[in-house]
Amino acid sequence: MHTDANCIFCKIVNNDIPSYKVYEDDDVVAFLDISQVTKGHTLVIPKHHAKNIYELPSDVASDVFKAVPGIASAIQRETGAIGMNVLSNAEQIAGQTVYHFHIHLLPRYGHEDGFDAKWETHNDAYTPEEMSSLAAQIKQRV
Ligand code: 5GP
Ligand code: ZN
Repeated sequence: MHTDANCIFCKIVNNDIPSYKVYEDDDVVAFLDISQVTKGHTLVIPKHHAKNIYELPSDVASDVFKAVPGIASAIQRETGAIGMNVLSNAEQIAGQTVYHFHIHLLPRYGHEDGFDAKWETHNDAYTPEEMSSLAAQIKQRV
């Protein structure tokens, strides 16, 4: 298990600093985000330290993601939220501030509930040929 002595989330995993845990198994911990952007805002993290989605080993990803539906449903049932945003920020431009991979579970209660994500659509910005070429180029790299 890779850990980083300077990482705040590794410290939470090791109970070196307190947190409000909502789930734990051999590989995964989930705890309330201190910022509570919306009520029940929870972080799901692997115990294994990995910086973000780019550096997440696929077996660690499996461990984390398989725990998410149960935790999300439990939050929904407890809070009565009417929806949920599930997201992970990678690198500063995307809003990452803690460099230990984590999934945010953000229960939603309404349009003015504390969370918002700008979502501009550009459906006509690319030709079918450009879309096809882009998909093929990405596919080659997976
Ligand atoms: P990011 O900005 O990297 O996507 O998310 C990091 C999250 O970690 C933030 O929402 C922030 O509130 C939360 N956070 C930072 N430090 C602590 C802490 O010590 N305890 C808890 N529970 N959450 C933290
Ligand atoms: Zn860490």
